Amino acid sequence: MLRTGLLLLFLSLFLGAATLENLKWRSGESYLIFLERAGLPQDLYYAIDKEDQKLTEEIRTGVKFQVLRDSNETIEQVLIPINDELQLHIHRDKNSEYVFNAIPIISEARRESVTIHIENSPSSDILKATGSMRIAQAFVNSFKNSLNFRRDLRKGDPLVIVYDQKYRLGEPFSMPILQVAMIEMRGKRHYVYLNEDERYYNEKGAQVEGFLLARPVRNARISSGFTKRRFHPVLKRYRAHLGIDYAARRGTPIMAAGSGKIIFAGRTRGYGNLIKIRHSNGYMTLYAHQKSFRRGIKRGKYVKQGQVIGYVGTTGLSTGPHLHFGLYKNGRAINPARVVQVTTKKLSGKKRKAFLKVKKGFDDLIDEQLALAAKPFKYESFDPACYIDPVSCKPLKESGYEAL
Ligand SMILES: [Zn+2]
Repeated sequence: MLRTGLLLLFLSLFLGAATLENLKWRSGESYLIFLERAGLPQDLYYAIDKEDQKLTEEIRTGVKFQVLRDSNETIEQVLIPINDELQLHIHRDKNSEYVFNAIPIISEARRESVTIHIENSPSSDILKATGSMRIAQAFVNSFKNSLNFRRDLRKGDPLVIVYDQKYRLGEPFSMPILQVAMIEMRGKRHYVYLNEDERYYNEKGAQVEGFLLARPVRNARISSGFTKRRFHPVLKRYRAHLGIDYAARRGTPIMAAGSGKIIFAGRTRGYGNLIKIRHSNGYMTLYAHQKSFRRGIKRGKYVKQGQVIGYVGTTGLSTGPHLHFGLYKNGRAINPARVVQVTTKKLSGKKRKAFLKVKKGFDDLIDEQLALAAKPFKYESFDPACYIDPVSCKPLKESGYEAL
């Protein structure tokens, strides 16, 4: 993003009266409606390839995007992020024709930490210290199923949360990714660690996930995994695959991966016959390209985990019978493999050994953060988040951190 950002800034200086607009994607707006409203050619949808067309369906309501206009108000460029790694780019080429591309977002990740002593509750105290509801939620969610804050927490108990936050043009961008969290209650420390397998574990090496999914199809082969950004060497294009493809015979039953309410059951252009199910805690699952839905399955209906909702097909922009299965948390596509149930939930052998190494590094980091916070340290006077050098794991001094 940095490079493109600089390009935009450079262009705006060069063009003199050019304007750069920072906009938010409207609720209910489709990419086609956007093109029409912006006065851009509909070919920017109909003439691009199928995979790119599918990407345009991933634009989220409320996402911040940029439009650069020249001095005659003509659109020069549009940048629309579809996740934290890939963005849609429309620009005018040398012949003044509009061109569509998916390009990487260049962002910078900073490791940050917050150390506080409980005043009221973990969520309200973290919110007060950071101003970020997302960080507060990340902390609370990671302990929700194992600890009872209300019963065991006392005033003055310490908590530490370390997370990675992406920045785009100097502004926090996308969700913070929790690396390690610790809370001490009645003299006992409780931890949640992000392991190298991208799953969360407690100090005993047992997986902690508040939300677990069942596989949506039986005996199916994964034909395409989840990727936020991938460069296709032959097509020389950037791609994303925001779900898992299960190749299965036409007519194979599709099961609800989790219990929830059906919020969409109908036909779409890209995803064909599509069902979306809303689950608790901001999760949503998506089942695309279905041949047909099971009788009685419609919007508003509640379904149980494992209940058949439809049948594998190849409707929409699809090349063969398969289920495209997507998982979204608060509207953002996440890797379903992280929460689809696995047979073993506790690490053993080599995997456990590797985890213990990760754990040791994080334990030391938490100790350092606690020691630092024990010194008189006034958070209110400056940025409450402490930036950590990812190499030395030592906090960076304020002066050592340059703004973008
Ligand atoms: Zn797919």
